[in-house]
Amino acid sequence: MGVSLLTLISSNLGYPRIGERREWKRALESFWNGNISESSLEETLKDIRLLNLKKQKEKGIDLIPVGDFSLYDHVLDTAFMFGYIPSRFQHMEPTSLKTYFAMARGSDEAEAMEMTKWFNTNYHYIVPELENKTPALVKNRLLELFQEAKNELNIEAKPVLLGPITFLKLAKQYDQHDFHKHLSALIPVYVQLLTELAQAGAKWVQIDEPILVQELDDSSIPLFKEVYDAFHKALPSLNIILQTYFESITHYQEIVSLPVAAIGLDFVHDHGVNLSNIKTVGFPKDKILAAGLIDGRNIWKASLVSKAKEIDDLAQYVDIDRLIIQPSCSLLHVPVTVQNEQSLPSILKNALSFADEKLDEVNELAQYAKGKRTIDDLKQYDRSYTDFIHSSFRTNEKVQEATKNIGAYPTKRLDYTERQKLHKKRWNLPILPTTTIGSFPQTKEIRQIRLKWRKGEYTNEQYESVINNEIKKWIDIQEQLGLDVFVHGEFERTDMVEFFGEKLNGIAVTNNGWVQSYGSRCVRPPIIYGDVAFDQPMTVKESVYAQSLTSKPVKGMLTGPVTILNWSFVRNDIDRISVLRQLALAIREEVLALEKNGIGMIQVDEPALREGLPLKQSKQKEYIEGAAEAFKLATSSVRPETQIHTHMCYSQFEDIMEAIDNLDADVISIESSRSHGELVHAFETYQYKREIGLGVYDIHSPRIPSVEEMAKNIDRALAVLDVRQFWVNPDCGLKTRSVDETISALKVMVEAAKTYREKI
Ligand code: GLN
Ligand code: ZN
Repeated sequence: MGVSLLTLISSNLGYPRIGERREWKRALESFWNGNISESSLEETLKDIRLLNLKKQKEKGIDLIPVGDFSLYDHVLDTAFMFGYIPSRFQHMEPTSLKTYFAMARGSDEAEAMEMTKWFNTNYHYIVPELENKTPALVKNRLLELFQEAKNELNIEAKPVLLGPITFLKLAKQYDQHDFHKHLSALIPVYVQLLTELAQAGAKWVQIDEPILVQELDDSSIPLFKEVYDAFHKALPSLNIILQTYFESITHYQEIVSLPVAAIGLDFVHDHGVNLSNIKTVGFPKDKILAAGLIDGRNIWKASLVSKAKEIDDLAQYVDIDRLIIQPSCSLLHVPVTVQNEQSLPSILKNALSFADEKLDEVNELAQYAKGKRTIDDLKQYDRSYTDFIHSSFRTNEKVQEATKNIGAYPTKRLDYTERQKLHKKRWNLPILPTTTIGSFPQTKEIRQIRLKWRKGEYTNEQYESVINNEIKKWIDIQEQLGLDVFVHGEFERTDMVEFFGEKLNGIAVTNNGWVQSYGSRCVRPPIIYGDVAFDQPMTVKESVYAQSLTSKPVKGMLTGPVTILNWSFVRNDIDRISVLRQLALAIREEVLALEKNGIGMIQVDEPALREGLPLKQSKQKEYIEGAAEAFKLATSSVRPETQIHTHMCYSQFEDIMEAIDNLDADVISIESSRSHGELVHAFETYQYKREIGLGVYDIHSPRIPSVEEMAKNIDRALAVLDVRQFWVNPDCGLKTRSVDETISALKVMVEAAKTYREKI
């Protein structure tokens, strides 16, 4: 290989797509709604893309990525580029934008492709479907993007693409025995793509293989050899960076010996393992180490002094001129810039670092490595974070005391079967009780009124009366629909985590800290900056009002501690389990407040439980136990008569069925939208005894399913579950659906349940 002495030293793995003010989202949605043309969409997106590149250049980044930008998702881009278009979209033009968006979002004729979480993040990718297709390079979008950067901005960019092994491991609709066959077909297509890039002048290419941080069995290693040997043989002078992130790599020795120019490792989320491998096994002399030193998953300023020490440490094992300084992963997972935050306390704001600020940090460290900064220079930078860490406004001694005495709080309720008898008596629900997951449509009017209220144009009383009217309207609708268990509708919430983030002490919310979650949907994760404490009841008013309007039970609706933790940016000066316990105690207070005010069913949502599961199996047990403890801390102090519900999103549950059982919730509802069959399958092997609702229809699609379709889903579930155990509900909250869609679908759902009851 022998890459000669480096003149470059800083790199970025990926930049947020969404723009400083979510211009990206707005452009996409306007296009989907038919308000702007395709060419105007392309134009806006190009502006955003070029601006992103320019910014990175101005920040002094030497290796600027292209190909990280996407119109929806980079895994979908990869599938699309290689012609993996599922048969149900085959009648459409294979390179058109219409086809691309139909695959992502569904169309009148064809269901959308499944989406699922990207490793342990809250980013969702589209799951490729192979269906025995032979791949081909339909259109080399990386080449176009590379040339665009060169022609428009004179940037010699670094194309980034998903590696073939990770791509195939994430894909579905093929027989695992045929893995090698698919890989063999893909290798020449990748080679063609890389060749075209090299011919156009690309010197560096980043190939992402994050699958390498999962515990792969030994048989995978020859596959990596095969792929990267083939790339090297075809393109011996192209500098390939084999990039990993989110954890340490397994099979270190074999991986660093692959014939690539550079190995990209995460030194932030590796629990020290990558570094210790370098120290004990060594790092090959002929390779470059792309060192992920700046945390790409959190928003705190780095201590540049300690990072500089890490560089010094690494420099003992790798020549300093063979080091690339970079973030630990793509900056897709953090907001764009701190600059637009107006309402955070300045001591907190000064301690934050979003994507732009992280690139400055990368640059500072690169300067340090080049000898252009001293430790003293870096000390200056570190001051604001240190000030923040030591400031007293973050501390709440009562909370710290309580978490020290965590054993004093109950985590065990009366036996489940005993409780169940009490619940049956208390509510006497029909078999196959019908309910919904919590939210009803958030109309434009409500969102606008909330905005006005926030700006002070509406008084609290005015705002509350709007919310109450909406609650009343939907209680009436639920009454007419004939549902058995009601909800108040969550109209007062923009987002299920942000809402609690705003009300709990120790958590801040941002104005503009948006991060892409799926497609054009962005979320603003709250920032847990200090000790978390319950201040005053957060949901009691709305729940009590809703309950006062009906004799049917209305579920109280809370977000659970694990989800608040996983969907927030979390302080990093104490361990996560302590933060989790603080959250659990705060939610516990709310649970008790609801119970005290007559709410008999309380749903504590944990949609993010699954995604927090550590990538390494060896660490999963600890996480699961911590999560279960937190859920139980939050919910076990209620009386036996009170029924605790929970809800979870996404359906890869096989491996955590026992963990779900251990939450000791009375009723659980699980999303099963895009893979109902797969979810039901989990219950064939696990004897689940509690009450459960596996969503009988997919709320993500505007389509109204027929009674027959829903009945089929009920049938499928009842093949593995007892009829007395099953609840009938949609598979997630209805917030994003229209009023008409919601009412029509629920009508069908109630009918399906009634028809079923008559049959038995
Ligand atoms: N109760 C929430 C809602 O209905 C749950 C949302 C979710 O699962 N993400 O909106
Ligand atoms: Zn859900």
